[in-house]
Order: sequence, then C-alpha cells, then structure tokens
Amino acid sequence: MGATRIVFLGPPGAGKGTQAKRVVGELGLEHLSTGDILRDEVARSTGLGNEAKGFMDRGELVPDGLIIDMIGGRIERAKKGFVLDGFPRTVAQAEALDRISKLDAVVNIDLSRAEVVRRLTARRVCRACGTIYNLGFNLAAGTARCEACGGELYQRDDDQPSVIENRYDVYERSTAPLIAFYRARGLLRPVDGKLGSDRVFAEVMRILAA
Ligand code: AMP
Repeated sequence: MGATRIVFLGPPGAGKGTQAKRVVGELGLEHLSTGDILRDEVARSTGLGNEAKGFMDRGELVPDGLIIDMIGGRIERAKKGFVLDGFPRTVAQAEALDRISKLDAVVNIDLSRAEVVRRLTARRVCRACGTIYNLGFNLAAGTARCEACGGELYQRDDDQPSVIENRYDVYERSTAPLIAFYRARGLLRPVDGKLGSDRVFAEVMRILAA
C-alpha cells in the first residue's frame, strides 16, 4: 500500500484542489480542503463563517486556532487516510498537525507568481459539484454551466486580481517556509505545477505509489 496520509502544498492556483479531487477518486481517501469547508461555513453564515469571511475576502489567513479546531477532528476521523488540501498553511499549523497524525508524503506543487495570477483570473468553479475550470484551457468564454453536472459556474470572490497578489504574498511569507519544514523531515515530494493537470496527476500517482 502506498501513501494514505497526504498533504498538498503549493501557492493558490497551483492545482492542489484539482489534484486532490483526482487522487481521492483514485485511492478512496478523504478529501479535506480547509478552503472548501470555510466557504461552506461562510455560505451558511455560521459563527465560524462570519469570523472567517473578512480574512478570506482580503486574501489573508484565518487565524491558526480557528483552523486547527475546525480540521483536527476531521483528520482524526479519516481512518482510511486523507488528502489535505490547503492545510497546513503556517508552521504553527504544521506543528499542530504533527501532534494529530503521522504523514506519508507532502506533495509540493510549485508555480510562479505570474502563472498563479494568470490561472486564478481565469478560474471558474461549479457551485453544485465543485469542478474547477480555466477559461481558455478547458472552458470556452461565455459558458455558464458545468459540463459535469449542469450547475452554475461562478468566480470566487478572492479570485480578483488585487486579492490574488495579496494571497501570493501571504503564501510566500507564511506557507513557503513549510517547504523547508517538510524537506527536513524527509517528506517533501516536488512536482512542477506548469506541467498541466494530466501530467501532474501522473507524476503525483507515481510519487504516492513509491
Ligand atoms: P483556498 O480555497 O485553499 O485557496 O482557501 C481560501 C481562503 O480560505 C484562504 O485565502 C484563507 O483566507 C482561508 N484558508 C483556507 N485554508 C486555510 C488555512 N489552512 N489557514 C488559514 N486560512 C485558510
């Protein structure tokens, strides 16, 4: 059996969500996306959602304590294994994760700032099933409905150019230090995010089977 406790690391827009969905489809693990969980909390106007919304709209990180409380139990309950997408994002979160679970692999999908801005500006998401599209790549301009389920396509509030730049700054400042953190633990597995979804997926599956 290959890796079953997996973290996807990388800047926003590198393909963590897309790859996480493909990997859980293949390996039957639990997909735990802190961004998706937070967006659901915001949509339902829960206490956590109301607290998190301002940070998310500005492209800043939601405070560590809230995130760790939100995700810790879900990780513990994912007995068959998990793919963490968007967590951890700070060294404090990685240290908390260390106390909750062992990991088998940390897949770091790398992508430059210019490419992140280009991709996120073009990103559209299905409101119903969460499928992620890119204008000019797998989505024609003017398409309003999801090819997979017919749901409405929308642009995330934080995929506006000024917010995208801030999210990349936050990534460099707070999340990129995790590359050295996991390299030192022998867990880091680098992948070039420019390769495109299918080639990245093939590379990820090869890494996870090793
Ligand atoms: P994502 O969907 O992963 O791009 O996350 C969207 C937004 O949710 C981020 O810009 C943060 O505001 C917030 N968020 C998601 N995951 C975390 C995390 N692990 N720590 C802090 N904030 C997070």
